[in-house]
Amino acid sequence: MRLAIFLLAPVLALGSCAPPPPAVDPSGNVEIRQASSSLQTQGLQLFQQYKQKKTISRNSSYNAQLQRVATRLRRVVNLPGARWEFVVFEDKTPNAFALPGGKVGVNSGLFRITRNEAGLATVVAHEIAHITSNHAEARVQQGQAVAVGGLILDAILNSQGAAEGTRQTAGQIYGTGTKLGAELPFSRVQELEADKVGLIFMAKAGYDPREAVALWKRFGAYHRQQGGQGSEFLRTHPLDSTRIQALEDFLPVALRHYRP
Ligand SMILES: [Zn+2]
Repeated sequence: MRLAIFLLAPVLALGSCAPPPPAVDPSGNVEIRQASSSLQTQGLQLFQQYKQKKTISRNSSYNAQLQRVATRLRRVVNLPGARWEFVVFEDKTPNAFALPGGKVGVNSGLFRITRNEAGLATVVAHEIAHITSNHAEARVQQGQAVAVGGLILDAILNSQGAAEGTRQTAGQIYGTGTKLGAELPFSRVQELEADKVGLIFMAKAGYDPREAVALWKRFGAYHRQQGGQGSEFLRTHPLDSTRIQALEDFLPVALRHYRP
């Protein structure tokens, strides 16, 4: 979700490569993709920093719900070496994010949209799908940096020994992004892919994938209610009719994987 993927193509000139084949085939078979160990390490470090910076929610109901959802999803997701961790942060914005290495953060404000466990599973499965599809690395390879709160951006630039000037440019671009409150998104293709992979994961974990369509519609309604300004998450996850349609089109496949 918010995940903060920054479009910094001119900054990180790593060269581009052809997009990888889809992480899920038309039958719903999911391919698991490992992030490089350096990206995983950066993800883990960033999550540590984020936890120190933000207030972790003590709402026992939210925490219990997230841990139940996470436990069920983890059982059906085999990502070797993942150090899964699912944390609720005190933040009214309905939002969530994922980091390489297996870290997922969910804002307390998300729960008023998810409303039930299947709704939450939709979002968490989508985030896990970004991780298992190694979307962050694809972005980095395409010359785009990944960041949450500006932290990983610097980590990546540092690890690549970027010149001071480059770091400043990145900082300026990042600053612009934060000022606007906009987290630049994963690519649209990656978002659609995370939706599909997420549908399969939630179905296998015993959550009715039809609930995903309902959840994203609720999210869309909330967003419209807020005059299109209600959620950073939705600025990076446009819930237009194309996206809802893509979910509905993939539902029959996901339902074949559904184990109530
Ligand atoms: Zn996403």
